[in-house]
Amino acid sequence: MAYDKELTAAIKAASLAARLCRKVQKGLVQSDVRSKSGRRHQSPVTVADYGSQALVSFVLQQEFPGEFSLIAEEDSNDLRKDGAGAIVERITELVNDFLTSDGSYNVTLSPEDVLKAIDSGKSEGGSQGRHWVLDPVDGTKGFVRGDQYAVALALLDRGKVVLGALACPNLPLTPTGVADPHCRKDEVGCLFFAEVGGGTYMQPLDGSSAVKVQVSGVENPEEASFFESYEAAHSMHDLSSLIAQKLGVKAAPIRMDSQVKYGALSRGDGSIYLRFPRDGYREKIWDHAAGSIVVTEAGGVVTDAEGNPLDFSRGRKSTEPVPTSSSTKNSSFNRCSYVQF
Ligand code: AMP
Ligand code: MG
Repeated sequence: MAYDKELTAAIKAASLAARLCRKVQKGLVQSDVRSKSGRRHQSPVTVADYGSQALVSFVLQQEFPGEFSLIAEEDSNDLRKDGAGAIVERITELVNDFLTSDGSYNVTLSPEDVLKAIDSGKSEGGSQGRHWVLDPVDGTKGFVRGDQYAVALALLDRGKVVLGALACPNLPLTPTGVADPHCRKDEVGCLFFAEVGGGTYMQPLDGSSAVKVQVSGVENPEEASFFESYEAAHSMHDLSSLIAQKLGVKAAPIRMDSQVKYGALSRGDGSIYLRFPRDGYREKIWDHAAGSIVVTEAGGVVTDAEGNPLDFSRGRKSTEPVPTSSSTKNSSFNRCSYVQF
């Protein structure tokens, strides 16, 4: 396949980053969590967000020297302010631990190397050339709560998503328990990956035996279930409830954080994902790039409310807010399952 080398690198980078995040989430302390400055709404950021971004950025630059463009969520501005020294040290230590953990890289990064790696995610993207797209911790609010989150990495080629690696460290390997995302099971940690034209695969985060996955075959909305954001501030629950009702969906919504919803949808845990942000919010491309290819390569459909494919060619954010959707193969759902993009 055309992007095999890139996919292998993406899986490696996302897996290493997911292991870093897992370690941080297990021992999360208050000093690991900060609030991003200059935001209208409170937005948490943690040492895991920064560490994950530095790790993925470093790995990709090692694998593809010279031809590198990365669009990623975080930057080092807050880390360069007075009083951030201790947190930068902690991030640097974590990044070095996980870079050397599988023996692939024999390096020790300095704090400045780490800050630079974080800042290499400032690309504007666009419709020309190749760009990596990263959400280092998607669903940071879920991460801090101890719930679901994802490391989401994708590659754009001439404005189209051509591969995705979506690590979901807290998603149970078997669908049981998905209806209750707070439920703890021993066997958690899934990595979904997809390359255009090649289908979607899932493997344990700690293993390598991948299985091909398919979206749900449910055709009757009465038997369908739907996903939406855990955070009501991210998606209008009342509107999705109304749409679900009109469709005839009987099941209660499955609320969970991050693109884990796309991963769960790709293996048929539910049939629909509805997303309706408020107040003209403009979606960021890193919140959908990896998840959307994971769903489409598993046989699903991801569109905006007008039925158009999501456009990843316009830079870091979507253009005008348009409700967006993802769903199973059933065309009657396609007009009804939306994500605002
Ligand atoms: P989810 O967990 O599916 O609700 O999505 C989490 C992502 O929603 C985060 O990574 C943010 O980038 C994004 N987000 C933050 N604020 C908003 C908002 N007001 N509306 C929609 N999405 C948001
Ligand atoms: Mg995100």
